[in-house]
Amino acid sequence: MNISKDYLSRLSALHNALGIPENYMDTCSLPVCEEPADLVDTEADFYGRPQRLTAGAFAAWTAMKAAASNDKVTIFLISAYRDVDYQHNVIARKLAEGRVISEVLQANAAPGYSEHHTGRAVDIGTPGCDALVEAFENTEAFQWLKTNGNKYGFIMSYPKNNPHGINYEPWHWCFRRPEE
Ligand SMILES: [Zn+2]
Repeated sequence: MNISKDYLSRLSALHNALGIPENYMDTCSLPVCEEPADLVDTEADFYGRPQRLTAGAFAAWTAMKAAASNDKVTIFLISAYRDVDYQHNVIARKLAEGRVISEVLQANAAPGYSEHHTGRAVDIGTPGCDALVEAFENTEAFQWLKTNGNKYGFIMSYPKNNPHGINYEPWHWCFRRPEE
């Protein structure tokens, strides 16, 4: 993939603003994720916020949710597309709370490196489980996703001990098939 110079310098400026080390972009094992040109509106997320995905990811998500529902499993969106500025703001807020950048980067990819920028990643919730907690792995929804997610093109991006050094995220799944 060809990442534009403009995009990289925009990322670099955001990283500087957050005190992210200069070598992050060279040493990070996560790929640079570009914001797609086209996104479609999805249903609102669990909090009632509007969300967007690529057309392909949304179609796959919709089919997967319906199939889960057929199996009496409820899954819902907690978060979908997030742009680079959003990612900057999430990290800036944590730093303002007194956290240190190295620790924050284990839970939040630097701006430009979050899969949510691609419009293909979703954070998934299910009734009876808090949002974005490791205990999601104990839910019926997670068992269902492990068995069936792949059929719809969704892969769990950050399993335990992933090579990216990102914390285990059983709730985070990304649509990995080529778009039609
Ligand atoms: Zn996520």
